[in-house]
Amino acid sequence: MEEKLSQILAEVRGETGNVLVLTGAGISAESGIPTFRGKEGYWVVGSRNYMPEQMATNAMFRTNPAEVWRWYLYRFSVCRSAQPNEGHRALVELERALDDRFTLVTQNIDGLHRRAGNSEARTYCIHGDAAWVRCGAECGAGKKPLPDLQLIRSKDTPLSADDQAKLTCSGCGGWMRPHVLWFDEYYDEENYRMDSALRAAQKARLLLVVGTSGATNLPMQIGRLAWRQGTALVDVNPEPNPFAELAESCDRGFFARGNATARLPEIVKALTA
Ligand code: NAD
Ligand code: ZN
Repeated sequence: MEEKLSQILAEVRGETGNVLVLTGAGISAESGIPTFRGKEGYWVVGSRNYMPEQMATNAMFRTNPAEVWRWYLYRFSVCRSAQPNEGHRALVELERALDDRFTLVTQNIDGLHRRAGNSEARTYCIHGDAAWVRCGAECGAGKKPLPDLQLIRSKDTPLSADDQAKLTCSGCGGWMRPHVLWFDEYYDEENYRMDSALRAAQKARLLLVVGTSGATNLPMQIGRLAWRQGTALVDVNPEPNPFAELAESCDRGFFARGNATARLPEIVKALTA
């Protein structure tokens, strides 16, 4: 491990402050779940190709809910077949060592942090969670577990009448929606733990960012807040990105260039040894 990184981690280990880990799609890439920036991202409807930024919108859901569900059920099927990797497991070790000094803020909806063993209570899913659905019209029926649908699907699997019935809101008879934050929607506390995530950032002595491109708003707010406060800042990513720039422009910051599975086990070891 590079000397500066090892120094920063040793300092943090010697203190009693909180550690906030912020993860994005990159931590699940080595589990076989494509990130949004990859080539595999598009979805074909009729003769047109749509990018995730178009599919994952309330506007698209209002125009074509069945197609949006077909896309999500395919993505959920990819998540369901994937397994947590060494990166996810390292973060479970870190939570065990730090207990309530640990918070995990994730943009991933794939459930791999939970399946690896991180606790629900300390994991804030700021972009939602594939395990849940809620009423698309927000009629007040509340959050429900994803119904028992056939989840092994290909890109061509149609949405059956049975699927549609299971995705119907028992309160108002409209469509249920995936419990995820869409590109044309805003963060909030009730669904997405925005205030809790910002509070955790205020309290953190170390912000460890993993596999996040910096294209989304709340993660960047967290990064800039940490930078202003002088929080130690480590970014794990094989590619340069805005968090790496923040990390490289502060005293106690480091861009740990590389894949999550290669970098996280040694970082966690240095923080807990
Ligand atoms: P992103 O797709 O924009 O960027 C992924 C980042 O991960 C990039 O910076 C890339 O360089 C990095 N990366 C790639 N391989 C990596 C590896 N092996 N180790 C570490 N880093 C690696 O993802 P994002 O910034 O999380 O934001 C995009 C949005 O897409 C989010 O809203 C998220 O909710 C959603 N999304 C979620 C999943 C999931 O649940 N697994 C997958 C795709 C997209
Ligand atoms: Zn409803």
